[in-house]
Amino acid sequence: MNSRHVVVIGGGLAGLTAAIELREAGAEVTLLEARPWLGGATCSFSRGGLAIDNGQHVFLRCCSAYRDLLARLGVTGSVSIQDRFDVTVLSPGGQARLRRSGLPGPLHMAGALARYSFLSPASRLRVARAALAMRFANPARPELDRARLGDWLGARGQRETARRRLWDMFIVSTLNIAGDEANVGLAATVIKTALLGRRDAADIGIPTIPLGDLHGRAAAALLGRLGADVQLGAKAISVEPDAGGGFGVRVVSGADDRGGRAPGAAQPGDADGGIAAGLNGSSDAAAAGLNGSSDAAAAGLNGSSDAATAGLSGGSEATAGGQSGTWEATAGGAGHRPDDDLAGDLAGRVIRADAVILAVPAATAARLAPADQAAAAARWAGLGTSPIVNVHVIYDRRVTRLPFAAGVDSPVQWVFDKTRQAGLQAGQYLAVSLSAADEYVEMPAARLRAQFLPALEELFPAARDARVTDFFVTRERRATFRQAPGCGALRPGAATSLRGLVLAGAWTDTGWPDTMEGAVRSGLTAAQAVRDELAAADRADAGASAAPAGLAASAPDRAASAAAGRPS
Ligand SMILES: Cc1cc2nc3c(=O)[nH]c(=O)nc-3n(C[C@H](O)[C@H](O)[C@H](O)COP(=O)(O)OP(=O)(O)OC[C@H]3O[C@@H](n4cnc5c(N)ncnc54)[C@H](O)[C@@H]3O)c2cc1C
Repeated sequence: MNSRHVVVIGGGLAGLTAAIELREAGAEVTLLEARPWLGGATCSFSRGGLAIDNGQHVFLRCCSAYRDLLARLGVTGSVSIQDRFDVTVLSPGGQARLRRSGLPGPLHMAGALARYSFLSPASRLRVARAALAMRFANPARPELDRARLGDWLGARGQRETARRRLWDMFIVSTLNIAGDEANVGLAATVIKTALLGRRDAADIGIPTIPLGDLHGRAAAALLGRLGADVQLGAKAISVEPDAGGGFGVRVVSGADDRGGRAPGAAQPGDADGGIAAGLNGSSDAAAAGLNGSSDAAAAGLNGSSDAATAGLSGGSEATAGGQSGTWEATAGGAGHRPDDDLAGDLAGRVIRADAVILAVPAATAARLAPADQAAAAARWAGLGTSPIVNVHVIYDRRVTRLPFAAGVDSPVQWVFDKTRQAGLQAGQYLAVSLSAADEYVEMPAARLRAQFLPALEELFPAARDARVTDFFVTRERRATFRQAPGCGALRPGAATSLRGLVLAGAWTDTGWPDTMEGAVRSGLTAAQAVRDELAAADRADAGASAAPAGLAASAPDRAASAAAGRPS
């Protein structure tokens, strides 16, 4: 293992987890990340001196793999988890509270449901019956993968009101798809694991520092300490098997592939460095993008304020701008050097690897995979994507004391107080998180402003007297894969049919929705798969001259690897 070189492509939570795990196990690790920072779909940027997350991220106490990663990164103290699951639900006309009791699960939620005033008593009873049915559903069954949640709930007496005022609250935000269109298997996983499982499973956790610090910077520091070779602004453009039983990964500099995502965001430390963040003031075009690629139009921060339009950086030069010492220390640091530097950046350079982990979004993995993976890759690409939009509003005064709230009968799905996390000294900063945001993702910022400021005033009457000092929008066009009926059949395990080529990412078959927990689990599974395959290769090397050097995992080894790390 020690002499083996693993290239991890993609520095999101999946790739970071795999890289840490493998480096700790003694492998030589090169991590390639196309963008100028680590953290993938969880990142932050600077605006007006504030640290802004690309989108609110929450987790639950039951997200054990993610919380373990936080501990390894040394940032457990930078998140806060509720003592008890406790959600205030606001509507234009009223308020309810869903707070669990100390009873063992699933009874811990019974009182909260019994008191949920946005549903009639009869409706609450029907919800309890349907929830119980879901508790006994097996998410792994193919018929649940094929089923549509609206149909499944409808068949169990869940009327429109119950679906919109209760089920949607949890399903839309966790599966990032309109509640009725969701995959029943994944919905059952969420409901069973979080709401009907251990009594503390659904206690909600939120970061208290910007995401870019929580994940990207902390991981860069750890990987630096571990001696991994982290290359930022290094975009893999192909992965090909080579004659020696390993792989050649072709890399170009320049962060012009955002891996199918649209963060439009740079690290918070870049406040004055001006890398990569495009803040598009009054323009309604999706204009702000990263790196000037054809994808760039997809990224963007569309503000209706008169924020200056920041420059968009492209190419590897961007990696240096405004990065912290930690980043500079790890980026492109010592470690494996390309075997051959080809002339011209277009051709790129080739890095040789004994094993490769593709920890990029599904469509990118499908593009990068060697030709003999074409049939499987077509299935991965078939997963599709779904957008998330965040509407950011800064008031000149406090308008609510709630740390967060859910909305019903309102376009506001969930709203979070980001004041302290962002570093705002006076006033209040609220972020409205809009999942399954197909209707909003192309909507001009001015129209979003016209819709969401009044909606917030309905939920928080104090906002009527407040002045809005800033308003802007972050759009993640490909925030998650589309967690619709049939998606389970398209999600691959970690092992591929090609020895040494392994997949990671929240889109792979983790059994979990596309979440931080799923991403971390996939990274652990991928690292285990690589370890198994490298161990088999070592055994083959050690044996008589029978097998060629390289990775020679047996089929049973690989099957076991693929099964490893399934959610408990
Ligand atoms: C706005 C938003 C809100 C969310 N809210 C939540 C939430 O509340 N709770 C939750 O649990 N989850 C949430 N998620 C989902 C969660 O962020 C993802 O599931 C998780 O971060 C995915 O991690 P990943 O490593 O699988 O993929 P990614 O984070 O997408 O990482 C892939 C990485 O690969 C890089 N890459 C792509 N192509 C290349 C290439 N050719 N060469 C090199 N590198 C490449 C990309 O730049 C990226 O860094 C949210 C997502 C978004 C976008």
